[in-house]
Amino acid sequence: MARPGWAPPRLDGFVLTERLGSGTYATVYKAYSKKDTREVVAIKCVAKKSLNKASVENLLTEIEILKGIRHPHIVQLKDFQWDSDNIYLIMEFCAGGDLSRFIHARRILPEKVARVFMQQLASALQFLHERNISHLDLKPQNILLSSLEKPHLKLADFGFAQHMSPWDEKHVLRGSPLYMAPEMVCQRQYDARVDLWSVGVILYEALFGKPPFASRSFLELEEKIRSNRAIETALVVQAVQKDQEGDTTAALSLYCKALDFFVPALHYEVDAQRKEAIKVKVGQYVARAEELKAIVTSSNQALLQQGTSARELLREMAREKPRLLAALEVAAAAMAKEEEASGGGEQDALDLYQHCLEELLLLLAAEPAGRRRDLLHTEIQNLMARAEYLKEQIKMRESRWEAEGLDREGLSESVQSSCTLQ
Ligand code: ADP
Ligand code: MG
Repeated sequence: MARPGWAPPRLDGFVLTERLGSGTYATVYKAYSKKDTREVVAIKCVAKKSLNKASVENLLTEIEILKGIRHPHIVQLKDFQWDSDNIYLIMEFCAGGDLSRFIHARRILPEKVARVFMQQLASALQFLHERNISHLDLKPQNILLSSLEKPHLKLADFGFAQHMSPWDEKHVLRGSPLYMAPEMVCQRQYDARVDLWSVGVILYEALFGKPPFASRSFLELEEKIRSNRAIETALVVQAVQKDQEGDTTAALSLYCKALDFFVPALHYEVDAQRKEAIKVKVGQYVARAEELKAIVTSSNQALLQQGTSARELLREMAREKPRLLAALEVAAAAMAKEEEASGGGEQDALDLYQHCLEELLLLLAAEPAGRRRDLLHTEIQNLMARAEYLKEQIKMRESRWEAEGLDREGLSESVQSSCTLQ
């Protein structure tokens, strides 16, 4: 239910319904036409009073640009209207939401999906650039998807777009810093080529789940862009840090992710010297990943054994408590499943862990202080650690699957096995 004050504005000929999103200067609603067709559209509403001179210009440019173009990968502007309060852009509705939500709901996109999306984005940009139009605010939030079943990209939000020949230089800071070309951030002087930088950032985010220079401040961003450190080493830096902190499981998973990056990099490198350098690095990471794997596996077994005697005692003390006994049975089944699981059974084991943990936590809340409560508490902690570990393993396998389909060399065999815990 819409809260009072949050009701969508009224517009002749349309019924405005849910809010689809909002950005720099507008709120976008889903709407349908009151005509017989009941056509579904998206209406971008801009409050006139929020507009200063610059944003009026932005809006007029957006209308002017979109009105004149038709392209399968550019959101279509069907009409525009205004009343005393708002200006309305009536656009084609994109049921798949925006690319930012699409990527983050899936964590990362498989390469073959990213490839198709990049082709679509490139065709939209080529079309625009041929007409001397630059978008200047390319980012996943401004790229929409026609539907979730059969997603096609639709470039949207031309609020910052400019008619610009490739060699015109502009001096205004526009767009979102994370996706901005360095000449825009650092020199505030740029040309049409800045859109290409943003495409690179978007591709990286699609494949790795976050933009390459993810930063919390402008300063940090500038530092990261200016530094010469290769982006891919960020993963290794994180892995080394986790390794030093003693978080073996996290370190192992980061090394594996880094290797997923380096293996194709090695494959595609043509320069002999650079290829050799990557080979050396990969060798080192594989070696460390192997060591970590051994540590994780053995500490894991220790953890399983450690609990045995306390666990038996707890079962003894649960004899009069059928619910507790039943939940402990499920826990035992989860552990058995985990021990036998290799390559696929983990999810079942995890489900069992989660099932018994819910029940045990309820029972713990009702358990009076005493020896049995202490034992139950410890056992719950053990089980939670097991479940976390399994989750980590499942996540690692998923990221390996995502990387599959790449043309892998013999070396990748050892990398793959180094990422396998069991
Ligand atoms: P702003 O200029 O305020 O950034 P946008 O045009 O980027 O406005 O729209 C803001 C958000 O609204 C988008 O990120 C997207 O989630 C949603 N949105 C915009 N247009 C549509 C559309 N045609 N179909 C579906 N959702 C849309
Ligand atoms: Mg936007």
